[in-house]
Amino acid sequence: MAPPSPQAAPHPVLVVGAGPVGLAAALALRHHHIPVTVLEADPADRTRPGSRALFVHRDSLALLGTISPGLDKTLIDHGVIWPTRRTVYRDRDVFTRTYPAHTSAAGGLPPFTSLRQVETEKHLLRACQDAGVRFLWDAPVTGTEPGPESVRVFTADGTVHHARFVIAADGARSAVRHALGIPMSGTRSKAFHVVVDVAEDPTDPLPLERVFTYEHPALGGRSVMRVPFAGGFQLDLQCKDGDDPEQWATEEAARAWVARVVPPAYAERLLWVSRYHFLQVVADSFTDPTHRVMLVGEASHLFPPFGARGMNSGIADSVAAAEAVAQVLAGGERAAAVGAFAHARREAALFNSRAAGTALAHLRPRHRRTRLLQQFSARMAPLVPAWGEWLERAPYGPRTAPATAVHGRY
Ligand SMILES: Cc1cc2nc3c(=O)[nH]c(=O)nc-3n(C[C@H](O)[C@H](O)[C@H](O)COP(=O)(O)OP(=O)(O)OC[C@H]3O[C@@H](n4cnc5c(N)ncnc54)[C@H](O)[C@@H]3O)c2cc1C
Repeated sequence: MAPPSPQAAPHPVLVVGAGPVGLAAALALRHHHIPVTVLEADPADRTRPGSRALFVHRDSLALLGTISPGLDKTLIDHGVIWPTRRTVYRDRDVFTRTYPAHTSAAGGLPPFTSLRQVETEKHLLRACQDAGVRFLWDAPVTGTEPGPESVRVFTADGTVHHARFVIAADGARSAVRHALGIPMSGTRSKAFHVVVDVAEDPTDPLPLERVFTYEHPALGGRSVMRVPFAGGFQLDLQCKDGDDPEQWATEEAARAWVARVVPPAYAERLLWVSRYHFLQVVADSFTDPTHRVMLVGEASHLFPPFGARGMNSGIADSVAAAEAVAQVLAGGERAAAVGAFAHARREAALFNSRAAGTALAHLRPRHRRTRLLQQFSARMAPLVPAWGEWLERAPYGPRTAPATAVHGRY
């Protein structure tokens, strides 16, 4: 570890990581007029990959519009709101619902907006720059040491930064969490999903609808979801236990199966191919014993993308963390304010994790009776729409907010 450098006055807060959650934390701190510096491992001109988290929920839009007035509208203007949700069982429609188009004239926020995460991050970064957030790029954090007066934060160039608080938004492999020795508990599915971004073909645009297809007949009974975003759509393929990634998750393999689910010309319009495992993992604590370091976003929890819980809950974490810091800087008791943040957001994460587990039990039924119930529901859906509605909702898990949620349903 680097030798300590002479101590300057500590930063009020350092944010580690300039992903969507770290950027939201920085904005939330500026909203409370707190000076903030973000330490980011990547260079300023980095290229971030893929669509990843598309869905910015209404609750997140409301939070972002509060901490950065106008940011909600910017994201809405740059995203799409698909009016139709559709569910297909094999080759039969079992649920379709189209909602009236949201107009800004009607007032209020739409239920969501859908844009690639890289676009969301671009707008968050611009808002941070406008709000006076300071960035140190190319500054990977290698360790943290909380002490009674401040936290020492080490970066790879040997600099030692001092801060009264650290908000760690440094993602799934969080160096801050590792340095604090906080374990993550949970499960990871063996089977994988493949995510593919496809650019829209303006000469043959697909209907603006989110479509979930159970047991797609052209994919050997694998389920697939299509989600529109501004300028294209994302396909999420649920592979079977034992599937070979070479046959499904390479770019060549993806071209082959994409041509079986959408018009074949779209197979030549792939932007990104990736795969992931279903994860339900939550940090054992969201703070350290001194209550000076707070974990937010994927540094503290990993959820599968179904249900759009990752980035949306990370934004809620960030706003709550900034509120805790503001309370303490205004004279509040640190252990109480940060402890309340850590408790409430960990409870929310556990709720999200359980909800993801419920979704997983539906998507990958362990019992034959669950699959039979799905088949029965598909047959009954034309007669009793509630069965079709169940098939539509179940892949995303329960939606009700946990009792302890402090900021919306995530
Ligand atoms: C392949 C993939 C596909 C995904 N697909 C979806 C999807 O379809 N839908 C969905 O909702 N979500 C998806 N996600 C999840 C979504 O991307 C995350 O929820 C979101 O990025 C979490 O944001 P974050 O800011 O917590 O972490 P990140 O986005 O990981 O940001 C962490 C930041 O910290 C920086 N950093 C890391 N280590 C250090 C360090 N030591 N020092 C300083 N900086 C550091 C990183 O460079 C990065 O900028 C996907 C994720 C991946 C990886």
